[in-house]
Amino acid sequence: MSILVINAGSSSIKYTLFDSATLRVIDHALIEELRDHHHGFELMQVQFQQHGIDITQINAIGHRVVHGGDKFHEPILIDDSVLYEITALIPLAPLHNPANIEGIIAARTIAPNVPNFAIFDTAFHQTIPPHAYRYPLPQNWYETYHVRRYGFHGTSHHYVSIQASRILEKPLDELNLITFHIGNGVSACAIEKGKSIDTSMGMTPLEGLMMGTRCGNIDPSIIAYMVHQSGMSVEEIDTMLNKKSGLFAIAGTNDLRSIIEAKTNGDHHAALALDMFSYRLRKHLGEYMAVLRGVDAIVFTGGIGEHSPLIHEMVCNGLEHFGIEIDSDKNRKGEVQIHTEQSSVALLVIPTDEERQIALYVQNKLKNM
Ligand code: ADP
Repeated sequence: MSILVINAGSSSIKYTLFDSATLRVIDHALIEELRDHHHGFELMQVQFQQHGIDITQINAIGHRVVHGGDKFHEPILIDDSVLYEITALIPLAPLHNPANIEGIIAARTIAPNVPNFAIFDTAFHQTIPPHAYRYPLPQNWYETYHVRRYGFHGTSHHYVSIQASRILEKPLDELNLITFHIGNGVSACAIEKGKSIDTSMGMTPLEGLMMGTRCGNIDPSIIAYMVHQSGMSVEEIDTMLNKKSGLFAIAGTNDLRSIIEAKTNGDHHAALALDMFSYRLRKHLGEYMAVLRGVDAIVFTGGIGEHSPLIHEMVCNGLEHFGIEIDSDKNRKGEVQIHTEQSSVALLVIPTDEERQIALYVQNKLKNM
């Protein structure tokens, strides 16, 4: 029997089919250039037959849904009212939730008897207290327009925190962690006794750290200033902040490997991009050290977090007075634990696996059904 994990984009579906008992991966693919999501499920149906699996007979489907607002704080079985709520959240995630919804509708059409679960990127952060999730903005912006911090990458932060607890052999609810998900999107999470108490992304994934093509924190008045000065529309500027900023704006590419190579060849823009990127990560690390008042481990994950010893060093070097000591040999060798024996804070490099975490959530839900 099996669990299917779906990540539906606007014209693509990424899927992973797991054995429901062992969570062994049976099949995994990205299907692109889809006519619609129904078409995607038809292609999957054919594909799964090769493994002797009938999509209408699988145990459950777990759908990644980007925005759960403040309605959803855990994975949930999808019925009509849940689907309605996810649809009502479209204004908060206009680029993502519509595709997620289409994936859910296609799944329900092709396999009507299979239960569907929604797993939200925002859910893990629903434990963040009001003093961290509220913005200092007019009250009715929050009450009427739901303007607050929600946070994203929740499934990833949760997954690596569980792995950190295994590695450190200490229960998760006794651990304080700072987790850095550093891929094209970048976010940090302050985890107190296993629960998210703050995160760097905000109402949208644009806030916080410098990213591949997103700017992260900037002075909000820059937007009004640029509207007036450049004649660009607010929408054009929003696109620039999301798609043409970050590493891409400074180095001319958002591929960190190319940036490191360019820096080695003496490119000043690449060097500046790396300095800015790691400086902002280090600033956030300092913030969360203060927020947590004691940290057991700092975790690096995501494409860059898992593979770039240079970034680990640029972030962690010189923080001995915080009890953080990186072991450059272990770091360069690609070990999981990259701190020295004297370091009072553990430094861990843990590959994320959001699909597996979604399958774990679904497995758990099925057990309790
Ligand atoms: P996404 O957020 O789109 O899932 P990833 O988590 O795959 O992205 O991260 C992509 C980033 O990881 C790119 O900037 C890529 O250059 C970087 N990356 C991947 N492997 C390495 C590596 N060996 N060294 C440095 N950066 C790497």
